[in-house]
Amino acid sequence: MNPALRERLRALYERMDRAYEALARAYGLSCEGCPQNCCSQRFYHYTLLEQYYLGQGLREAPAELREEILGKAQMVLSLYEQEALGAAPQRPLCPANFQGRCVLYEHRPMICRLHGVPYRLKMPDGSLREGPGCSRLGARTDQGRLDRTPFYQEMAALEALLRAELRYQGRFRRTTAQMLLEVAEWPG
Ligand code: SF4
Repeated sequence: MNPALRERLRALYERMDRAYEALARAYGLSCEGCPQNCCSQRFYHYTLLEQYYLGQGLREAPAELREEILGKAQMVLSLYEQEALGAAPQRPLCPANFQGRCVLYEHRPMICRLHGVPYRLKMPDGSLREGPGCSRLGARTDQGRLDRTPFYQEMAALEALLRAELRYQGRFRRTTAQMLLEVAEWPG
């Protein structure tokens, strides 16, 4: 990914973080002491761009930590594969979560940044989708909803630039574990 694109993605993430934090503060929402860990949700990611960025975090991690993350990613992937073959569903923690803490925090994907407060999203076909916050908020929406639309739109625009640069046209849908294992195989 070229440096200008990386910088635009970093700035976009920063804006998401600010918007999320402002709304979480308004709700008095904190993850402190929460018995449920959102990082055990099976998040899917839809941009190659975010895989590159997460991969940068993985590459920058100390070698030993990198190996641990990849070992955990392999375990998570095999649990998902067993589930697809009929085993009871499990909720393994994301491979980047160590003792409740994200070790790739600066490089975490968009959904990790936006999950937790009520949101609205205008879909490309013009329809409106709304979703709840995390269970700690119950059904509260009294402080408003985070509008994800401009963030998703800018992410899509940046993704289009990367895909044009790489001449990539494939459909992209990956769990965090899949993204990590794949980037570990990329050259350089
Ligand atoms: S990337 Fe980080 S924040 Fe996102 S699910 Fe994994 S551990 Fe949690």
